[in-house]
Amino acid sequence: MSELSRADRLDGIELSLIVRIQALAGELRDKGIDVIGLGTGEPDFDTPQNIKDAAVAAIQSGDTKYPLTGGTPALKTAVRDKFARENGLEFAPSEIIVSTGAKQVLFNALMATVNPGDEVIIPAPFWGVYRDIVRICGGIPVIIECAQDNGFLLTSEQLRAAISPRTRWLMLNSPSNPSGAAYSGEQLDALMTVVREHPHVAVLSDEIYEHLTYDGNAHVGVLNIAPDLRDRCLIVNGVSKAYAMTGWRIGYAAGPASLISSMVAVQGHVTSGASSIGQAAAAAALNGPQDEVRRRAVEFEKRRDRVVSMLNQAHGIHCPNPNGAFYVFPSCAGLQGKRTPAGAVIASELDFCDYLLKDHGVAVVPGAEFGLPWHFRISYAYAQESLNTACERIQQASAELRD
Ligand code: PLP
Repeated sequence: MSELSRADRLDGIELSLIVRIQALAGELRDKGIDVIGLGTGEPDFDTPQNIKDAAVAAIQSGDTKYPLTGGTPALKTAVRDKFARENGLEFAPSEIIVSTGAKQVLFNALMATVNPGDEVIIPAPFWGVYRDIVRICGGIPVIIECAQDNGFLLTSEQLRAAISPRTRWLMLNSPSNPSGAAYSGEQLDALMTVVREHPHVAVLSDEIYEHLTYDGNAHVGVLNIAPDLRDRCLIVNGVSKAYAMTGWRIGYAAGPASLISSMVAVQGHVTSGASSIGQAAAAAALNGPQDEVRRRAVEFEKRRDRVVSMLNQAHGIHCPNPNGAFYVFPSCAGLQGKRTPAGAVIASELDFCDYLLKDHGVAVVPGAEFGLPWHFRISYAYAQESLNTACERIQQASAELRD
């Protein structure tokens, strides 16, 4: 064993494919190759000015010391007001935590509750971070494949069959990264009926894409459907996606006070709390005007329509029409076994994504990253022009494949 060998808890844990593909796309670009990166889930617009101004004001007024570990009173109040205003949910400050991104909220929650061997149910396709955080915390991710023909959604039968005495959490993400699928009230109700039958199972509901729902559908939150499950639900959210604040690293959650206080204990030993300046900015985001959020959702819906239509014109690709977030998750199973002009066989979606990147200059993320092979994820949080060119290249790439 070398001095700096990895701990066992990191077995199988690598930097996510999303980050690696983005880096590879950057390297190709540095070599002068024209690559369109559609790999990252990051809005292409700038953080609104009122939010930036609040951060500058925080700096100028000396709001630059260690914040309270679980979040500044100002941001916790803004989060409380947001839940009341937008979700009709009442939380006390002791039921709210602010962290360095929603990602740290998830880490805190699992670190605080998962014992070695505990199981966490994760419907696939999922955001790969879920699986890896569960593993780092010593838990066992119980992955349930949710097929495209059921809209990538978990059914109550699948959930019932997956629950064991070791189940600790059910992780839900609606609207979803990577599929864009969003549960209806009825579908959530069916799942919560099963959860109700199993008092040892808690629900972690990641609602970070709540503002991005389409076709006239509004977001449905778990606690709106099952308010009686409040003592075992953690609602996760953040400002990254709604306000184009991915770099500010502020996320938050609301749940039972005892869980929140355990999460604050974890956080105290990891970051001591989120940046005071980022928190001032996030408070301005939540308290400020919300019209930009709605305007962006309308813009994303247009991009979705165009991307879905163009991908469905590509040979061997089938792209369902998702009803939320800013991702599409098409199937490329129709390309299995085909050959590239250079003679390479497409034996997996990884091969197809590699071919897209290296031969056609489009970076997308293979389904393996999300637990569902023979698919790939495209983020359409990019300028329409880049999306059009990228989709044309995908059409061209699939047309050039031979039997
Ligand atoms: N949850 C989901 C489903 C996500 O897709 C992301 C980011 O991609 C996050 C949480 C994390 O967001 P952040 O840590 O930027 O708040």
